[in-house]
Amino acid sequence: MNDALFPYLAFWIPGMLFFAIEIIRPARPLQYRSVFVKDLVALGMFTISFLLAVNITDRIPIPNYAPAKILALPLFVKLILFYVVEDFGLYWVHRIMHTGPVWRVHKWHHSPRYMYWLAGIRTTIPHIILFNLTYVVALPILHSAPSLIFFAIGFEHMMRNNWMHMNVVWRSNWLEWVFVTPRYHHIHHSDDPRHYMANFGSLFTFWDRIFGTYVNPEEVKQEISFGIGERTNPVRLILGV
Ligand SMILES: [Zn+2]
Ligand SMILES: [Zn+2]
Repeated sequence: MNDALFPYLAFWIPGMLFFAIEIIRPARPLQYRSVFVKDLVALGMFTISFLLAVNITDRIPIPNYAPAKILALPLFVKLILFYVVEDFGLYWVHRIMHTGPVWRVHKWHHSPRYMYWLAGIRTTIPHIILFNLTYVVALPILHSAPSLIFFAIGFEHMMRNNWMHMNVVWRSNWLEWVFVTPRYHHIHHSDDPRHYMANFGSLFTFWDRIFGTYVNPEEVKQEISFGIGERTNPVRLILGV
């Protein structure tokens, strides 16, 4: 197979599956035809922004701080540790992005008035840089891990972002004890002021419980809607400034 095709297939094959699941069990009605082209443009912009942002974050010198005892642990344990450290960082970076002037960096992500798997692709360059920082800081825990692991993590990050925005009925109380689900993240996108500072989690839900930003999706009985409820200069929105 042509190597250049691989990233497209890795993105669109699961994407087709997400579409199929959404059509079978949609959480809300959605006219895909009216939003899909916009989201394809956003995906193109994300690709360019991501390459630029990675070019910057790759240059950050992070010392190999992980002690030999940690590096000697089995890879599976180090992976769990990596995700805990990264996700703790993601929780706080995300929470900070919802405060004061830093909100500009993140506003574009919250601008869609609908949810489906491709709706979460809007990420400004500073947004990606801030999120990438958490990955870069956690990376020494996986020092000398096989390169396949890093591909797998990159793929998992992309799929997780798509999954958490999915327009799907997925009521899994047991899963939400640990992991973020679509309905959990949809509350984070809700335009109801009661949900403005809720459910910041990216992978794990327990940070929200520990730091007081948890809203149980099971207790949100009313229908929620999405968006930022304001008109913003689109160039500033996309640049995050
Ligand atoms: Zn947010
Ligand atoms: Zn989101």
